[in-house]
Amino acid sequence: MNKLSYALDTNISAWTTYLRQIDRVVPYLGDLARWADTLRHPKRALIVDIPVHMDDGKIHHFEGYRVQHNLSRGPGKGGIRYHPNVDLNEVMALSAWMTIKCAAMNLPFGGAKGGIRVDPFLLSEGELERLTRRYTSEISIIIGPQKDIPAPDVGTNSKIMAWIMDTYSMKQGATVTSIVTGKPIHLGGSLGREKATGRGVFITGREVAKRAGVKIQGSRLAVQGFGNVGNEATRLFVEAGASVIAIQDHSSTLFNERGIDVVALNDWQDKHRKIIGFKGAKQIDRDEFWDIHMDILIPAALEGQITLERAKKLNCKLILEGANGPTYPEADDILCQRDITVVPDVICNAGGVTVSYFEWVQDMASFFWSEDEINLRMDKIMIEAMLHIWNKAQENNCSLRTAAYIVACERILMARKDRGIYPG
Ligand code: GLU
Repeated sequence: MNKLSYALDTNISAWTTYLRQIDRVVPYLGDLARWADTLRHPKRALIVDIPVHMDDGKIHHFEGYRVQHNLSRGPGKGGIRYHPNVDLNEVMALSAWMTIKCAAMNLPFGGAKGGIRVDPFLLSEGELERLTRRYTSEISIIIGPQKDIPAPDVGTNSKIMAWIMDTYSMKQGATVTSIVTGKPIHLGGSLGREKATGRGVFITGREVAKRAGVKIQGSRLAVQGFGNVGNEATRLFVEAGASVIAIQDHSSTLFNERGIDVVALNDWQDKHRKIIGFKGAKQIDRDEFWDIHMDILIPAALEGQITLERAKKLNCKLILEGANGPTYPEADDILCQRDITVVPDVICNAGGVTVSYFEWVQDMASFFWSEDEINLRMDKIMIEAMLHIWNKAQENNCSLRTAAYIVACERILMARKDRGIYPG
């Protein structure tokens, strides 16, 4: 779906979107601009063939990737995506967005990402396990707790992270919990990790709403994507008094002027794995979603959703990017002109990687924190990062995205410059 909308609307790929975002920040970088080309080249990209014995006796070959975009500030960090549209271009862009995200949050990581072109819902559990274990084995030549630490992303979960941890550990001959984050709690996972991304969307959204003059109490909220991120963010906004008037997932678009009962919708989704058929709202056309009068929009699905055309007609005040890369650069300009505030993905959805960082630290120390401690630390880091970027945007009279990129690129390129070029 996302690849199709790229092709139809603007004809630019995710990696091109990222490159254009870099072009926009370079004029703000002063002398560091000399090093900016480093951000336009992924450091390392691995393509792997993954043969899997399928349940029907056949052998199927899947294509997988792990890209380390930049390691100037620390080991690579970033999730693994299982989705039918995964390709090298997308994984490159996602890895680059991780570089920016980790630096914008001041986490001691570079950026990486992985993925397999597969529809995980079409595989049996056995096939999924064999796929994951062989993929892990193939990328084990470049990952490691001090080199590159994977995590969940679209289409992967804690169970898959457990298989990754186990496969890597078997090869090492020792249990290495810090090789991957987003694991089950009893295997060195962190409390609060599962809800962290959605929680971060709420925290950053709340802070920006205050400053942008948007009231959450009584606001009209629309959410695209009702997975892990959309779900938790929606729950917290409802708790804070917002009314969810529209929710879209791959199966349907639901609308209810009086507000959708998200607890009931959650129950429905737990049973059916999608929102279609839910009785507490009417089903509308997919495209109508973008015409709805709303105050806050949370795109929490895939990249390439807010096109130029959609940006021109969107009727909202605040966009909180739960997904990675949902907005095209040209659409960004329109939103800016129309005074619609966008909290960019690299800050808005950074709660996940922030708690991943905590998980990695806890695994390294073999000492685990309480959920309260984790949430407290996460909120503090996110609020401080958000404020820093808000002030940067005011100082430079630019969008929050450009401000986040200024903060991140300065940190990355300063590290790059001081490390110098090997061998000199
Ligand atoms: N996949 C998530 C992201 O896009 C989390 C990455 C991580 O925890 O390393 O931020």
